[in-house]
Amino acid sequence: MHPYSVGLITQFCVQPIYAMSTTILVIEDEPAIQELISVNLSFAGHKVLRAFDAEQAQTLIRAELPDLILLDWMLPGASGITLAKKLRSEERTRQVPVIMLTAKGAEQDKVEGLEAGADDYITKPFSPKELMARIKAVLRRRAPQLTDDVIKIGTLTLDPATHRVHGGDTALSVGPTEFRLLHFFMTHTERVFSRAQLLDQVWGDHVFVEERTVDVHIRRLRKALEPSGHEQHIETVRGAGYRFAMQVAPTP
Ligand code: CA
Repeated sequence: MHPYSVGLITQFCVQPIYAMSTTILVIEDEPAIQELISVNLSFAGHKVLRAFDAEQAQTLIRAELPDLILLDWMLPGASGITLAKKLRSEERTRQVPVIMLTAKGAEQDKVEGLEAGADDYITKPFSPKELMARIKAVLRRRAPQLTDDVIKIGTLTLDPATHRVHGGDTALSVGPTEFRLLHFFMTHTERVFSRAQLLDQVWGDHVFVEERTVDVHIRRLRKALEPSGHEQHIETVRGAGYRFAMQVAPTP
């Protein structure tokens, strides 16, 4: 058994709930396989959405953007490949990681799947352990704020599993929304995000919250980071939004 899989499974058994619950859309027309995958994902703490075909999947996506999509290759109606291409061509779904599920093992199919925009590819039959390991690997690469990896930048440490933040040796008290905001920033450093983008990424898309709410939580986050002087990481970029800077000026 692959040591990585062992670690994952142990972790799931001890602490089945993800620090941040991710929504995974399973598009699979075979009921038994759909059920098996969904049960395993739920057990691992994910929220699961299910679709039997591309049309149903698109209806679900319109209502709620998933964090990751498991997409079967052979579907009734539009194929998985067709749907993967469509997801990649549309602004709203372009960034959502896609793992293709298929019975085909040929090299050419793998190439075709990856060219259609899939992030990874898993051949049936697969074990739940293998699937979980692939999901975690794709999330780590594409959406690190959804994994429970400890993040350390300079002397600021954030631990998603225990929900703790430390500035050097100082334990910092950070509220739940500020924690998600900080987690997102620490996994997307140096980039400027508008208030609308932060709302989408941290509060979830389709959430109707005023953009001013972001400012309120940024203020709270800065205040929470003040005891150890780490509030300087959070920079205001005039007319654009906010950025998490890797380097901060030393405190005088
Ligand atoms: Ca199928």
